[in-house]
Amino acid sequence: MTDFAQTKALFDLPEGVIYLDGNSLGPLPSAAPAAMQKVMHDEWGKMLITGWNKAGWMAQPARVGDRIARLIGAEPGHVVMGDTLSIKLYQALASALEMRPDRRVVLSDSGNFPSDLYMAQGLLKSLGRDYELRVVPPEDVAAHITDEIAVLMLTEVDYRTGRLHDMRALTEAAHAAGALTVWDLAHTAGATEVQLAENKADFAVGCTYKYLNGGPGAPAFIYVAPRHADTARPALSGWLGHEAPFAFDLDYRPGAGIERMRVGTPPVLALAALETSLDIWDLTTMSEIRAASQSLTALFIEEVENRCPDLALATPRDPAQRGSQVSFRFENGYAAMQALIARGVIGDFRAPDIMRFGVTPLYIDAADVRAAAETLEDVMKNRLWDDPAYQTRAAVT
Ligand SMILES: *Cc1c(COP(=O)(O)O)cnc(C)c1O
Repeated sequence: MTDFAQTKALFDLPEGVIYLDGNSLGPLPSAAPAAMQKVMHDEWGKMLITGWNKAGWMAQPARVGDRIARLIGAEPGHVVMGDTLSIKLYQALASALEMRPDRRVVLSDSGNFPSDLYMAQGLLKSLGRDYELRVVPPEDVAAHITDEIAVLMLTEVDYRTGRLHDMRALTEAAHAAGALTVWDLAHTAGATEVQLAENKADFAVGCTYKYLNGGPGAPAFIYVAPRHADTARPALSGWLGHEAPFAFDLDYRPGAGIERMRVGTPPVLALAALETSLDIWDLTTMSEIRAASQSLTALFIEEVENRCPDLALATPRDPAQRGSQVSFRFENGYAAMQALIARGVIGDFRAPDIMRFGVTPLYIDAADVRAAAETLEDVMKNRLWDDPAYQTRAAVT
């Protein structure tokens, strides 16, 4: 059994703050500053360039990838770290499209995060005019899986509403139609029980600065199913994905398995910070996290609905159909969120009217959820949002 009081104590959370935005940027693991200091002093400082061998920096992306694999139900040896999520998505989609040379359509949904759609648009434009990105409403995805589809590219949890796609059923339908799948786990890695291997996902990508608490700009990960690992061609063919980077050949030959999905020099310092969070993740299992998350999100929905009649639930009521966030619609949602943040409850806002709250059992408990709902009630009942100070939108909402 996970001791969630223990895991909570391993984060450096500011006094007086209830942090319901770990779905956007996870908090600082208390051990991270000293661990980074150590890597800087003892490895970078003392070993200099020999650190690539002596400190194992070169093997770090696959080693850390294995620690993530456990959390997303992936086979060991099939996840590697590096770059950002947008880049990894591009890479996965490019490889998948090349494996279906006779087809031209990428299917996605309007609940996908714009960067994923933008990256797909950019890639399809480079590939040529007859490629098409078909974007349909989330609830219509299954009906649009036809034999025209080359790749089904979905984000499992909708960043606005928290609605969770059925990975198993949609992957099965895609395969039955001869298509491949690219799953974006940005809002599921560390949030729900992802089962990549069991559900036969083809490619998956995700970031580590949200639920996985790797810190701002922490590197992304990519998964390629073992059955594709030695045939998928990396479109971003950088030297560290080469079979023999230090042979300095003039021609590219992809490395073995997931190693070929590496591009350039790994972010050693950022990976060191991420590892301190993965040490905390080692103290729990995704099934316990999922159970705790479902009960906390249910509690938050109940508390807020009882206290704030002007807020409309935007998240599925059935816990099996949502990720680990709760969203409410309110036309003055931006100002209300600013008023809430000013009172120590941090969530965020997504246009046009979504107030979003991440619920993260590693460091959020039932008392936090109740206290947050109480503060929200104060903001709503007393119209505290109706203050000019809360109206001006900052660059990051
Ligand atoms: C957060 C998020 C991103 C962000 O991509 P970066 O390249 O890491 O900035 C992309 N896609 C989805 C689905 C996200 O939730």
